[in-house]
Amino acid sequence: MNILVLNCGSSSVKYQLINEDTKLALARGSVERVGTSGAILTNVRSDGDEIKVTGDILEHTTAIEYILAVLLSKNHGVITNKNEIHAVGHRVVHGGETFTGSVLITDEVIKGIRDNFDIAPLHNPHNLRGIHACQTHLTNIPQVAVFDTAFHHEIPPHAYLYGIPYSLYSQYKIRRYGFHGTSHEYVAHRAAELLRKDIKKLKLITAHLGNGCSITAIDKGISVDTSMGFTPLEGLLMGTRSGDMDPSVILYVMSKEGLNYAEANTLLNKHSGLQGISGVSNDMREVIAEMNDGNKRAKLAFDVFCYRIKKYIGSYAAAMGGVDAVIFTGGIGENSPDVRKGVIDNLQFLGMEIDKTVNANKDKEKAIHTNKSEVSIFVIPTNEELMIALQTKEVVKSIKKK
Ligand code: ADP
Repeated sequence: MNILVLNCGSSSVKYQLINEDTKLALARGSVERVGTSGAILTNVRSDGDEIKVTGDILEHTTAIEYILAVLLSKNHGVITNKNEIHAVGHRVVHGGETFTGSVLITDEVIKGIRDNFDIAPLHNPHNLRGIHACQTHLTNIPQVAVFDTAFHHEIPPHAYLYGIPYSLYSQYKIRRYGFHGTSHEYVAHRAAELLRKDIKKLKLITAHLGNGCSITAIDKGISVDTSMGFTPLEGLLMGTRSGDMDPSVILYVMSKEGLNYAEANTLLNKHSGLQGISGVSNDMREVIAEMNDGNKRAKLAFDVFCYRIKKYIGSYAAAMGGVDAVIFTGGIGENSPDVRKGVIDNLQFLGMEIDKTVNANKDKEKAIHTNKSEVSIFVIPTNEELMIALQTKEVVKSIKKK
């Protein structure tokens, strides 16, 4: 079964055509700068063949046309007929309280995704555009929505409620939802495989550290708390997002600098985090390079980044009454020995100790704890696309059985 996995953002569409039997991508790529006449499609086939196509791609429907054309093309394609795409799996960011798992897309599901526009204005409208585009170009091929929030739907009320009037929860559904669900779920299951234990017997802490960062406490395979909240702004320090802070800060800055809602939103989402503190970059590689060159603010940004993760590990160990393994994933988690060391340093009292040599080697998937460490510490490359493909397959299989 070939599954087209789509991730539609405001100005980009990322995709992979995954063969679910081999679990490998036949082709992967992206269309960047959607909405402009200088949009670029990059397609990479599994044999390494790469092609770039530029064009007028003013909306998502055209982006999907370009993607299908390249997948079907004689010289650079991987299929000869659209029917070789057996299902489409869409990453949908916000499922709200409505969607607790992956679902076949129907009119009712589309209405549910639309109902969540209010709480995910930056994501859900673009995700829905991708769905409509596929309904136009891939008629009769089942489409499935896989939600970033779904894995967190069992977080208990004491962990998802904010300390504000309960009526704001009942009326507006203001609560912690959590994101990056497919990534946390994927690496947690992989860690259980590496430990050769049933996930239902494990307490895990998964740290997804990319441009966006979040950390999740997973007890018996269930997400019981996570650092992102009502939106992906809460929690860890990120590339350009502030993460946790006293909410009064923003009210104070708004009044001092005369910022309106949109400006305040941009300040917290686009000009904060690593970028805001370091003044150097939102890219951890550049922050580390500057820090090593003696830039004090880059060092400060690095320290705040690691300290915040360390604090969450401590609090999630307390929340679960123990921890069997910590897992690092995402661009930073997978590639930065410095960050992993900065986070785990001084956590021996929790039974965590890193082996410096293994931590620094180039292996992609590895256990980086010492023999003495009571807690396992893993680096596991995430694969959100594969997770979306597998969940899509499950949904399609279950409807075929009916
Ligand atoms: P996204 O969240 O957009 O999917 P990624 O998971 O690719 O992003 O992570 C991007 C982050 O990973 C950037 O901050 C980048 O600097 C960081 N990163 C990638 N490689 C390295 C590396 N070798 N050392 C440190 N950070 C790295």
